[in-house]
Amino acid sequence: MSQIDDLPPLRDVIQRHGLAPKKSLGQNFLLDLNLTSRIARTGGRLEGVTVIEVGPGPGGLTRALLAEGAAKVVAIEKDSRAIAALTEIAERYPGRLEIVEADALEVDMAALAGEGPSRVIANLPYNVATPLLTGWVATESWPPFWDGLTLMFQREVAERIVAEPGDEAYGRLGVLCGWRCEARIAFDVRREAFTPPPNVTSSIVRLTPRENPLPCPVRDLEAVTQAAFGQRRKMLRQSLKSLGDATALLEAAGLEPTRRAEEIPVEGFVALARARRAAL
Ligand code: SAM
Repeated sequence: MSQIDDLPPLRDVIQRHGLAPKKSLGQNFLLDLNLTSRIARTGGRLEGVTVIEVGPGPGGLTRALLAEGAAKVVAIEKDSRAIAALTEIAERYPGRLEIVEADALEVDMAALAGEGPSRVIANLPYNVATPLLTGWVATESWPPFWDGLTLMFQREVAERIVAEPGDEAYGRLGVLCGWRCEARIAFDVRREAFTPPPNVTSSIVRLTPRENPLPCPVRDLEAVTQAAFGQRRKMLRQSLKSLGDATALLEAAGLEPTRRAEEIPVEGFVALARARRAAL
């Protein structure tokens, strides 16, 4: 294992601070600093960038982000047991690591990121990974506070994020992410890389915000994708009935009533969302 800093090995850190992994907090730690460095580099050049890291745990990715040159890392961690371990890293990199003990679902990340370019890079706790992603992508205003998201997900969730029409994994998450971002799977991470190993393979996903996503109110897009994918194999004239006059909506959006949600590209859903808004 390569040396990226002069801090102790993560196994020692975990032992010394009593950081036995807790399932309830989605704790699957990465102890290989080569791997955490690769994840940090997947986030792009970090010089001059503030990185928001959700769930630093014992700090393997945090250390890589700092060693790779992030101007500042804001690390948001819910587990109070990890704070002492993170404080040791903060002392090694004076003024560059801000530790926030909080639930990431409840903090104002844009405010924490401050001025200047910022990015989110994290090995997410799987139990809150999708709500966190939705919170970053489905904001009312755009562009967002971040210029990139580099995130670990279970492979199955990663496939849903990058899915295209016709893919089995295509659904609400793929439409939302495809509307606002370019998304790709950067690489897979095998189970054995984690302590303890999760049940499934994981993937690092990279999302870059689109400069000019098609204009459309988020809540209307969510309403139409919820209705359409709620009955994904039914024809749209049937699945959209819960929204009112499905035939009129489809006509206004220029979509054939006999088509199914799984074949409609992002632009089709945006047209539907706009037609819904106009009909309200
Ligand atoms: N970054 C570390 C690594 O790669 O080894 C730990 C990743 S582990 C998959 C997820 C981390 O998120 C844990 O440290 C856990 O305590 C933390 N966590 C879980 N739920 C959280 C929440 N709601 N807000 C902030 N942190 C959370």
